Amino acid sequence: MIGILGGTFDPIHFGHLRPALEIQQHLGLERVHFIPCHVPPHRASPGTGSDDRLAMVEQAIADVPGFVADRRELDRQGPSYTVDTLLSFREELGPDAPLVLIMGMDAFAGLPSWNRWQQIFELAHIVVSHRPGSPASHDLGGWLGNAATHDPAALRKAPGGLVYFQPVTQLDISATAIRDELQAGRSPRFLLPGAVNRYIQDHGLYRAGSNRNHGT
Ligand code: ATP
Repeated sequence: MIGILGGTFDPIHFGHLRPALEIQQHLGLERVHFIPCHVPPHRASPGTGSDDRLAMVEQAIADVPGFVADRRELDRQGPSYTVDTLLSFREELGPDAPLVLIMGMDAFAGLPSWNRWQQIFELAHIVVSHRPGSPASHDLGGWLGNAATHDPAALRKAPGGLVYFQPVTQLDISATAIRDELQAGRSPRFLLPGAVNRYIQDHGLYRAGSNRNHGT
């Protein structure tokens, strides 16, 4: 079973990595694809270019078995809709392979505003990780109905359509807070992998007035 974790990863941090590892191990995922969003449909474009954000993902997961840095959204024009990303996985894997879309509770709560969001459920299961500051569960305004399951084994029995809530180590880390630390001239050390911190320093990212911060 394959997992997918999309995000702006501006930059990637331990709040992405540790929950992803725990979900990978708990569900026995063969691979987890980390997919930087090229053109976010729901927020201003990240200050850091997609290539830098992908490079930081590559640095973060270089030695992690089963973790894959996936550039497919960088290679598409227009808004990076998750539903299109899932359709591209379906083309590769066929209609029957179970597929798991991983997201934090904050992202899940906003799902009904996503493009063709109900089709997302037809294409994949959703595994929701708890995140500090977000509610313990969410029923998408009653829409969730009986799609929620407590049985992780059920995920392997269908290609998609179920929602599974996964408790993970609670790390109150956000990319926003890391960018704020860097802008203020403070170190983000111990919030993200050392290799990512080195990449940030080497490329002068997130500094106040940095000229590397540009559109996408
Ligand atoms: P920003 O602060 O810029 O909004 P972020 O830290 O929330 O960024 P994203 O790249 O937007 O990171 O998040 C990608 C995915 O990872 C989302 O599904 C989000 O819910 C999840 N996520 C991010 N941080 C955490 C965390 N600390 N714990 C659990 N899930 C997280």
